[in-house]
Amino acid sequence: MEIRKGIAVSPGIAIAKAMVIDSRDYRIPRRSIMASQRASEIQRVRKAFARAIQELDDIKSAKRIEESKISDIFAVHMRFLRDKSFRKRITDLIYKEMVTAEYAVSTILREIASHFAGIDDPYISERAADIYDIEKRLLKHLLGRVEDNIEHLRDEAVILAHDLTPTQTAGFNKSFVKGFATERGGRTSHTAIVARSLGIPAVVALGDLSSEIPPECQVIVDGNRGVVIIDPDEETLRQYARYAERVTQFVSELNVLRELPAQTRDGVRVELMGNIEFPDEAEQVLEKGGDGIGLYRTEFLYLYGGSEPTEDDHYHAYAETIRTMKDKPVVIRTMDLGADKMPHSSWHPNETNPALGLRSIRYCLQDLPMFKTQLRAILRASVLGDLRVMFPLITNLQELRQAKMILRDVMEDLDEYAVPYNADISIGIMIETPSSALTGGLLAQEADFFSIGTNDLIQYTLAVDRANEHVSTLFSPAEPAVLRLIRGVIQDAHKARIGLSVCGEVASDPEFIMLLLGMGIRTLSLAVPMIPEVKQIIRSVSIEECGQLARRAAALDSSRQIKNVLRDAALKILPENF
Ligand code: PEP
Ligand code: MG
Repeated sequence: MEIRKGIAVSPGIAIAKAMVIDSRDYRIPRRSIMASQRASEIQRVRKAFARAIQELDDIKSAKRIEESKISDIFAVHMRFLRDKSFRKRITDLIYKEMVTAEYAVSTILREIASHFAGIDDPYISERAADIYDIEKRLLKHLLGRVEDNIEHLRDEAVILAHDLTPTQTAGFNKSFVKGFATERGGRTSHTAIVARSLGIPAVVALGDLSSEIPPECQVIVDGNRGVVIIDPDEETLRQYARYAERVTQFVSELNVLRELPAQTRDGVRVELMGNIEFPDEAEQVLEKGGDGIGLYRTEFLYLYGGSEPTEDDHYHAYAETIRTMKDKPVVIRTMDLGADKMPHSSWHPNETNPALGLRSIRYCLQDLPMFKTQLRAILRASVLGDLRVMFPLITNLQELRQAKMILRDVMEDLDEYAVPYNADISIGIMIETPSSALTGGLLAQEADFFSIGTNDLIQYTLAVDRANEHVSTLFSPAEPAVLRLIRGVIQDAHKARIGLSVCGEVASDPEFIMLLLGMGIRTLSLAVPMIPEVKQIIRSVSIEECGQLARRAAALDSSRQIKNVLRDAALKILPENF
């Protein structure tokens, strides 16, 4: 039995057999073979191709894949795998240069991928990502690694991986993937956010992990305490089974709060909205008793499917969400690609420092056709309900004005074709940089609402990469600098009488709820599974005691002291929850 401590990113307990996914980018070393081994290496290549084709056939025939947009990616892969000239290049290399099958596969596929990536046609350059995928698939068969085999899961498993992309995580089938643990990552990385949305228990930043796991061994993922237990003994398994039962019971007890308002003991109503990545999560927001959707991360539309979503793809996703939510508000955030949310293709440039690069609204403002496509869809959907639009990562007034000007251009286009839309659509921005937080007074003159994105605000204020486990202890919403910026934004928004919410992960952190209320926040947008617990906290406190706590925190000078004070306060209110 081995106990490992990491960062708890998604609550819950998972107990199941381990499934190790090796998603590192392997460089295959050049190894020479003897002339007599050439035939057997070529035979290995044939077998790997045959297995890869069989595997794709199996996946394609599974209904789940057929119905999804992933099916066209599989079709592209299949075409490559069946292409004889492509296979011949690999076998020729083995024959002429006397190298191993894996080296030949990797070399030829990477050559083709980099050739595609350099072509100035998005359709072709996007195929580079497919070629890398095919390389991985073939290498898996050649090297016998269990890699990306999640598609085949037919038994419950806990996924263990070096790292997972947000897209991989979003593709997990909850019936089989009971939890996951990764060597890398941070609490506010997008992979963690997706795990919380799906309600899959997860622990990240465990350090070297996957190489030590015996195949098929049992693993416990404790997403509440950030602990992973590999190969637990009988007694630990028993204790955890009991603990898991208590956690499940706690969650079901909270469900009774569904119909009750998120109202403090002294009668102040707080709005609890859900953060979603996919339209089908809207249903869950209602199930959990949410008041609307405060953040729809639309970039996930771009992360799936291998190509840019069309205007209709956008429209259908938004229309479905609004229909589910009926008259409740839905805040659509325009796409926020870049940094740790990279499209599955090469239409985004390679950057040395992507978090400070062409991401989010900057990317949109440089690619107007793409931006306008999304805006048209948002405007078309705006007549279906209470739809609001929000621009991410606005750093100054200039950017906000540009984004609004483009929105107006799109409105004029729609006017020309007499397409109906809501001309008074509410336009908000995310406050996620010190720059926007410090100029909230200016921005508030031209925005209808602010939403404080604490994940990025903390990252950019403290210069701490939100997804980097090596600096994760430095990433804290309780840092005095962060709290001062948030306080300033609250004052500016209140002064200008515009809407205000907090939609970063801090809004789903039970220990921070009292502080946020005490600072003046009345709308929280958070991970959907956490809505009942946060509601319970809100219903257990008074605004007066929250205000006192916020004033105490403001007088302290270190993150550690502030966290201790918050924890003590939370423990007093609901001892059994903490
Ligand atoms: C944030 O930065 O706090 C936020 C909510 O946006 P995202 O996590 O998608 O970057
Ligand atoms: Mg952000």
